Order: sequence, then C-alpha cells, then structure tokens
Amino acid sequence: MTTFHPERSENGAISAPLTMFGPDFPFPYDDWLAHPGGLGRVPAEAHGTEVAVIGGGIAGMVAAHELLRLGLRPVVYEAEQDLGGRMCSPSFDGHPEAIAELGAMRFPTAATTLFHYIREAGLETKPFPNPLSPSAPSTVIDLEGREHWARTAAELPSIYQQVSDAWDKALQENAERSAIEDAIRRRDVRSMKAIWNGLVARLDDQSFYEFLANAPSFSAFRYREIFGQVGFGTGGWDTDFPNSILEILRVVFGRADDDHHTIVGGSRQLPEGLWRHRHHDLAYWPDGTSLAALHEGHPRPAVSHIDRCGTGITVRDIGGGSRVYPAAIFTPNVRLLLTKVRTDERLLPRQCWTAVERTHYMGASKVFVLTDRPFWQDKDPVTGRDMLSMTLTDRAPRSVYLLDDGPDRPGVICLSYTWNDDSLKQLPLTDEERMDSILPALERIYPGAPIREHVIGKPITVTWEREPNFNGAFKANLPGHYRYQRRLYTHFMQQDLNADQRGFFLAGDDVSWTGGFAEGAVTTALNAVWGVLRQFGGTTCAGNPGPGDLFADLAPVELPMD
Ligand SMILES: Cc1cc2nc3c(=O)[nH]c(=O)nc-3n(C[C@H](O)[C@H](O)[C@H](O)COP(=O)(O)OP(=O)(O)OC[C@H]3O[C@@H](n4cnc5c(N)ncnc54)[C@H](O)[C@@H]3O)c2cc1C
Repeated sequence: MTTFHPERSENGAISAPLTMFGPDFPFPYDDWLAHPGGLGRVPAEAHGTEVAVIGGGIAGMVAAHELLRLGLRPVVYEAEQDLGGRMCSPSFDGHPEAIAELGAMRFPTAATTLFHYIREAGLETKPFPNPLSPSAPSTVIDLEGREHWARTAAELPSIYQQVSDAWDKALQENAERSAIEDAIRRRDVRSMKAIWNGLVARLDDQSFYEFLANAPSFSAFRYREIFGQVGFGTGGWDTDFPNSILEILRVVFGRADDDHHTIVGGSRQLPEGLWRHRHHDLAYWPDGTSLAALHEGHPRPAVSHIDRCGTGITVRDIGGGSRVYPAAIFTPNVRLLLTKVRTDERLLPRQCWTAVERTHYMGASKVFVLTDRPFWQDKDPVTGRDMLSMTLTDRAPRSVYLLDDGPDRPGVICLSYTWNDDSLKQLPLTDEERMDSILPALERIYPGAPIREHVIGKPITVTWEREPNFNGAFKANLPGHYRYQRRLYTHFMQQDLNADQRGFFLAGDDVSWTGGFAEGAVTTALNAVWGVLRQFGGTTCAGNPGPGDLFADLAPVELPMD
C-alpha cells in the first residue's frame, strides 16, 4: 500500500495532496508504516519483555499495538472506565447507535498516519458536515444578531469573501504559503525546512491575533472580528487568538482543518479496535494474539507513582500493583505528572520539566442532545429551506452541528462546541442548565423551530478542563513556546542521556506539534516506539529508516536561548 503519490501533470504542476507531513519534523510516518519490512526488529533475547504503556488513548494504543508486533509485551494502564481517552464516544441512554463525540469527532484526510490505523482497524468513515463544506446542506452565520444563510461561502455577503481573501493575502505575504505548500506536496524536505525554519525564527513570538493585526489586509478591526467568527475550515477561531501563530500555520499548511471525515459508529472504535486487533504478522507472539488477550480483557488501573530505580522505571498503580520496567511510555496530558501522578526530578531532564510546567492547554466544552428524528430537514413553509442549518454564531452556542443517520432514525445535535473563555461559561452549569442556556440563542436565530419538542432524553455534556484524568482539552502553544515544545518532542532521542536517564518516553497530544489533532498523537507514539526499539538494541529494517534514524537530517530547528 503506497500512501503518497506525488504526480506531475503535463504542465509540470504537482497534483499530490497536502498532508500533515512536517513541517517541524518532516518524517514520512505513513511510508514507514506502509513498508512491507515492518518497523524493525528487537533482539530475540528481548522478546516478551514488558514495557509500560501509560494511557489507553490513541497514542497508547498505537504504541502498544506496534510494541506487540515487535515481540515486546506492552502493559497498558488506563485511569478511566473505558479505553479511548479523548476519542470518547458515549451513546445516549436507550439508543446505543446514537453517539456524542465528546472529544475528537472529525479527522482531516490529510492525517495519513492516523488513516493508516483507521484502515487497519477496518473502520468506515464519511465526510463530516463542517459549516460551508460540501457535506453541509446549508450554514447560518449569526454575527451581532444578524443571520446569513448560505449553501456555500460564495452565497455569503461579499464582506465574507473579502475577509477570506485578506487571510489568503496575509498567509501569502507574511508566511510564504504557496512555497511551503508546494514543498509539502512534493515532500521536498530541504525546501520545506528552509522556509519553515525561517518562519519559526520570525514568528514564534507572535500570537495569532498579532499576526492578523500586523497584516495590512486585516487593518480593519471588522475584518478581524468576522475572521474570528468564520475564519477558515471549521470556523470560530477567535478563542485561539492568543496562541502562537505557528500553531495555526501548521494546521493551514497541512490541510488539517479541511476535508474532514467522521468515523461511522464513533471515534472510540479506533483505540478499541487496536486493543482487540488479532495480529497475524507477529515476531514472537502466537498468531492471533491481541492486546486484549495479553491483558485478560482489562488494562491495569490508573498509575499513581512513577520512579526511577537504577536503570529501570517503577510504575505503581492505584490498585497497589508495582512493577519495574526497562522502558515506559507516558501518553496522558503531561500536566498530570505535576498533579495526580507522583514522581520526582530524575524522571526527566530538568529542561523538560520546565517545558512540562509551561505546557498550555485549551479548554473545551460540548453539549449534545438526542432528537426523535432529524426534524431540521423539514422545510420552513415560508423560506422553503431546512428548518435548521449548521450554525456559527458569536453567541453562547458558538458552533452547532446537525448529525443524522437517515430520516427514520434519531438525530443528534451538537448544540454547542466551545473553547477557552466560552467553555468556562459552561463549566459551572449542570447538563440541563447548559441546554437551557443555549436553546434561547438558537430559538432567536430560528424563530418558531420546535427544537425542544423534538429533544428526547437528557443531554450529554463535557468540559475537558474539569475532567480529572485530562485537566485540559488539548495542548496549544503560546507565543514563545517553540523551544519548550521542541524539548518535549525530541526527548525520544535519548542516546546522549546517561543510562539512568533513559527509558521513559513521552508521547501523545501534548508532545505533538499539532495539539488537538489525533495525527500528532499517533506520530509521537511512533517516535516513542522507535525509542523503545533502540533501547532494547533493536534496529529498523534496511531501506525503511525510522524517525530517530533520520533525526539528524530532519530535526526541528533549534532557536537560540540567548
Ligand atoms: C474537545 C476535543 C475535540 C477534539 N477534536 C479533534 C478532532 O476533531 N480531530 C482530531 O484529530 N483530534 C481532535 N482532538 C484531539 C484528539 O482527541 C487527541 O489528539 C487524541 O485523542 C489524544 O490522544 P492521546 O492518546 O495523546 O491522549 P488521551 O486520549 O488523553 O489518552 C491518554 C489516556 O491516559 C489516561 N490517563 C490519564 N491519567 C492516567 C493515569 N494516571 N494512569 C493511567 N492512565 C491515565 C486518560 O484517561 C486517557 O485515556 C480533540 C480533542 C478534544 C479534547
């Protein structure tokens, strides 16, 4: 299976799609996985050795899946009742087929490494109806109490097009968009690094908002305000304004905010699918072995302590279990190493601890309700339009998504998806209070729409910053954070550390360059797998080098400290 096909048309243009390849560390994880030789080999004497994998989200499951394949024995720890972490898809009471995607709900097709595992788990995907995307029948933009209905962006008033053009211009003039996107399409690492490294040095200190405010095309406040509402891709970016502009550029250049698919039946099926996956290509374990079988069905409970002992790592769990491992991969939010998981300075190099302390998180809340049917597809007798549309608003709900599985089955409305300050407004409210605070705003936008009449059962809601095993939704670097991010990301390269500092690997969303996108969590898990492989004296296969083998050439640029 080849995952990447750059093609040149007759006029010489590159027709390969943009993918989340690079730009900080442009290693082709998708090709590494697709290679028939596999990821590598560990020496036979290491076969069956236990490796702790802390966290049963997608990063933990990918790491455990690949360690099992290599012949090691991953021992998975998970604090929650269910596996999946922020791939979290509970169903409504009495309606197992109707789910609320409380965490990840839409995946860019540019996430080629994640899609490798989606295919491996045999999961079906379908386009997600983002506002103004081809999969959304219609969208309403509600700004300052005025609504605009449109099927495509072209149907919005011209000021929206002007704002979109201003964004393109700002990217082109201040962030070399065409040049870097061309390099990403061609996987031209040299050009990509030459451009991106310059952008990192120039823009790391700028917030998203400063980038806009400094751009001549955004000199009008009105443009910045509208952009904060509608933005690009999924829209509603103003709560992201304080973050580093580099975070946004990675998303734009990698086409991460476009062409989204949802996993039919819920995203949690992916980590669960890897847990249950029966392998037939194993280096050591009997044919048909799965992670679930190795764990007799259940992961070990939450980790309470992690300590170094000599060259090993002692992991204690809340059930009283204590084991020493030669290697451990930690995938939860790193913030938890400062709070719920007891450890000490020796676990990480001191510079990494500073980076852990500085890690900044977005907050996020979601409110879902179940409806008896997708009533919003009924036509408004006056306008002839669907009764409700995907909605972006500057009021309480911020983003509204209408999700259905056909006219005769219950429908699901994501009544509200909010970040940061907007999420905090929801935090003190009960599930019902959240619904009651949001519905009036929708009733104003859609007067007469009988939303409440169609809601059945109780809402399902979440505020991630309140969840004890997460304490934040996803990492988002602030201006000036590049150096910290680099320390966490590159910690899997441990050859220069003393033997008693090795063996503990960070992976997951926090370590990734693209926090808030599962693709980044997956690729950092693969870095950790490479690190463990090397720790056991293993090697990658000839012709299929791993991320650490190419590190010297691809390493993220180092910015000066003085
Ligand atoms: C609101 C929201 C929306 C998102 N939307 C998208 C999206 O649309 N598309 C996309 O690609 N990505 C999205 N993401 C990001 C995506 O969900 C994450 O990148 C990915 O799921 C992170 O996986 P992970 O394994 O790194 O971390 P997690 O999923 O957090 O896994 C870590 C696991 O560790 C467990 N844990 C915590 N403490 C302990 C302990 N002491 N012992 C043992 N286990 C412990 C946790 O319970 C958790 O299961 C979203 C995230 C959020 C929160």
